[in-house]
Amino acid sequence: MTDEVRPEPEGSIPADAQPLAEGTPPVRSLRELIDRVTGRGLTPAQSAEESGLAEVLPFPFLALVGQSEMKLALVLALINPALGGVLLLGPRGTGKTTAVRSLVDLLPEAPRSLCYYGCLPEDVEKGGIDAVCPDCARKYAQGEPLAKMDHVRLVELPLNARLEDVVGGVDERAAANQRMRVKRGILAQADRNLLYVDEVNLLEDDIVDALLDAAAQGSYTVRRGPVSATYWSRFILIGSMNPEEGELRPQIQDRFGLRVVVRPLEDSQERLEAYRRVQLHRANPRQVISAYLDDTAQVQAEIQLARECLPKVVLPDEVAAQGLNLVAQMHIESLRAEITLFETSRAYAAAAGRQVVSGDDLRAVAPMALRLRRSGFMQEYFARQKDEEAELAGLIDSVLEQPTNKRT
Ligand SMILES: [Zn+2]
Repeated sequence: MTDEVRPEPEGSIPADAQPLAEGTPPVRSLRELIDRVTGRGLTPAQSAEESGLAEVLPFPFLALVGQSEMKLALVLALINPALGGVLLLGPRGTGKTTAVRSLVDLLPEAPRSLCYYGCLPEDVEKGGIDAVCPDCARKYAQGEPLAKMDHVRLVELPLNARLEDVVGGVDERAAANQRMRVKRGILAQADRNLLYVDEVNLLEDDIVDALLDAAAQGSYTVRRGPVSATYWSRFILIGSMNPEEGELRPQIQDRFGLRVVVRPLEDSQERLEAYRRVQLHRANPRQVISAYLDDTAQVQAEIQLARECLPKVVLPDEVAAQGLNLVAQMHIESLRAEITLFETSRAYAAAAGRQVVSGDDLRAVAPMALRLRRSGFMQEYFARQKDEEAELAGLIDSVLEQPTNKRT
């Protein structure tokens, strides 16, 4: 057996984590919980009884060793879709794809449209009755539900997908019956879900264009001859890529809110533990999954709770001013930088059960929100990234330490 309990690895809690109280502290935030659970050795096998496991048995998110920032970014993206998704950059074999696929057990519930076109009650609340299809408009008027609560899903956009798979094409079955009908594509299926694109830097240009259009507008229209259809397409975009295999177009890079540079584990104890867990999962996935079942359920519930609390989380003006100052001093032009910075801070505060964003929240998420914003050239990426990381760390220290009244 490879599952002896070992002490928490040092360094599994990032330096910027909030200090723990003396004694054995209660878990005060989702982040602490995740750090603690994931830093723990595997417990001995529990009973093989488990319920509701899917056919495919993904590696449990909480069993991933190390990679705190990647895990935090993914969880924050689940809490607040408005932060703009996550881009994971790193060499092969660093667990990027495993981490994204393992999110299926943590996905929260959200209102799911009962309609083919994805209409939701909030569309009516925001845009009036014309914002939904005629059928839903009638239902809304008659007080019938337009949606039910359902788990957010993980939808993958595979590299070999054709444009008509992505946006939808003519439905062959309907065409055989002399009718023209447009089939829902991956982008429509991704509405209100997670859309995962592995090797996003290797996507064909026409697919990238379709993805960017949908991401920018939250909907898209397909025209095929006399038929056209418009679909909602409001997804949380998660991408992963190995920067050594090609650049990412600047437009799509700008689309991603958070950017995490995933490096191979350096600590040999951590590498050994990661190896053991992967081997054990290969041999007996149910054993690994059941060892994390309770913790996974707890983290999922906390994500759901944080998501529900998010609308109440406010960003005080003085904290916003600090964030804007940071963005200005980084010479970042994209407006998306501060949107991501602020929305991520709100998600981080919600995860910790707080309703007011603090400077510490800003500090905790600033690196992932602001790195790799200044340039689209990936060739010198590693070298530049190192410099930028140091500069960003220095700026965070100097800017966020300043009392507000001394800022110019
Ligand atoms: Zn509808």
